[in-house]
Amino acid sequence: MGVARFALCKISSSLLPRMHRPSALRQMSVAADLKNSTIFRSQGLIGGRWVAAHDGKTLQVNNPSTGEIIADVPFMGRRETNDAISSAYEALNSWSKLTATERSKCLRKWYDLIMSHKEELGQLITLEQGKPLKEALGEVSYGASFIEFFAEEAKRVYGDIIPATLADRRLFVLKQPVGVVGAITPWNFPLAMITRKVGPALACGCTAVVKPSELTPLTALAAAELALQAGIPPGVLNVVMGNAPDIGDALLASPQVRKITFTGSTAVGKKLMAGAAGTVKRISLELGGNAPCIVFDDADLDVAVKGVLAAKFRNSGQTCVCANRVIVHEGIYEKFAEAFSKAVQNLQVGDGFTEGVVQGPLINEAAVQKVESFLQDALSKGAKVILGGKRHSLGMTFYEPTIVTDVKTDMLLAREEVFGPVAPLLRFKTEEEAIRIANDTNAGLAAYIFTSNVQRTWRVSEALEYGLVGVNEGIISTEVAPFGGVKQSGLGREGSKYGIDEYLELKYVCLGDMNRK
Ligand code: NAP
Repeated sequence: MGVARFALCKISSSLLPRMHRPSALRQMSVAADLKNSTIFRSQGLIGGRWVAAHDGKTLQVNNPSTGEIIADVPFMGRRETNDAISSAYEALNSWSKLTATERSKCLRKWYDLIMSHKEELGQLITLEQGKPLKEALGEVSYGASFIEFFAEEAKRVYGDIIPATLADRRLFVLKQPVGVVGAITPWNFPLAMITRKVGPALACGCTAVVKPSELTPLTALAAAELALQAGIPPGVLNVVMGNAPDIGDALLASPQVRKITFTGSTAVGKKLMAGAAGTVKRISLELGGNAPCIVFDDADLDVAVKGVLAAKFRNSGQTCVCANRVIVHEGIYEKFAEAFSKAVQNLQVGDGFTEGVVQGPLINEAAVQKVESFLQDALSKGAKVILGGKRHSLGMTFYEPTIVTDVKTDMLLAREEVFGPVAPLLRFKTEEEAIRIANDTNAGLAAYIFTSNVQRTWRVSEALEYGLVGVNEGIISTEVAPFGGVKQSGLGREGSKYGIDEYLELKYVCLGDMNRK
């Protein structure tokens, strides 16, 4: 946070990190081009106007691959959040009264604009978040798919007629928008975590105040710019960023905000859940995971290696559904470790704009230190590194794709989300033991199993205490399926026909005295 230090274009090449000079120069040129594009915004959006913080304070947005400052954005707090809430509240009346078809058309246009700016949005994601461009482009399509899907779902919000218990009555159920929604999102999917919330919210007539992570606000602002260009009226979508606790408190305190939807850490989710009690708000939480990935001895080894690789190393291990514990049957443990190691060795690490790179940097120094401390804990308790295990020679926050064997259930690597490119391999003897290890956690978001036994697929899928189960597949998220966790991984579901219910209230209407003439 703080006042802007120097603009990107003023950085002399001698100041660039030594190992990264060519890549940093290339990224600076991408950044300079993006700044001239029609989607680039570096102010907050309140009531359809691009605004600075009231006291002029700014926050620097860095490129995790190079450490360069991409832009300064306003460091906002309670005051701006309250303004954004007022704008969203004012816009609610007219937006919720549009027909579903009218709202659907706006959302469809927004989707079209996101897709026609896919390349620029992908570059922006890579620039501020670090993931490889190919993955970033995938996120743009994935993120946009929620807008498209809910543009369609807007037209299918059906109520009900209930058979009455008395002859002179008629009973109806209406579905109406919850109202103003406060949406708080993390840095690991700077676009998709927003569209997964805002898509259904806007589709059914809610308005929103979005708070993206301070680490990745530029993608959110670009998406908001495209929403304005799509004709989504001023005030329907507002974006504030800066002092997270102050913004969160303002959203929680306002009686005008009727719903909080949050994706992020379990610790912050719990705070928001407690805070929402003050004004009895609806709440949806997509929190941290501790995904088990069980490889049975009847699995197809190639399928298992490919699946675990995708589930573990996507976004350099920084997703809530990343495989956190690879639990392998003792009969194939060594064989799997060897084949997996060969595959992981081939993962190319580098800046996200380099062709062929599949592992970018971690988001910041704290993330690397977390990985180091988890690894240290495991090594001190008898685990062994068979691949990687240290910072990458590229410097910055690059970390070597790592495999650790002989991991035990009491190690931090098995108990908490490492959120980095480290695959811990645990051993099991029986199916019951694998299920027990998998369920021995407070988290319950995603789980994966690799087996070619159909009966086992059903048995184990049913026994796993998780909201999502991938069978012989490491990438399972899609806009058409419900995404969400059980236990302390969260409340509610995003995406799919179920996702819109999170933004709707049921209203029961009883029409009496039917027989009066
Ligand atoms: P985080 O620290 O909880 O941050 C998430 C968001 O909450 C950010 O916008 C952050 O703002 C904001 N925030 C922080 N403290 C707050 C407070 N007191 N009041 C209101 N807002 C506050 O999580 P993260 O490190 O960004 O994201 C990683 C976590 O998200 C992991 O645990 C991951 O598993 C989880 N995640 C879950 C899902 C899912 O669908 N279940 C998806 C993606 C990620 P600032 O960044 O500006 O501080």
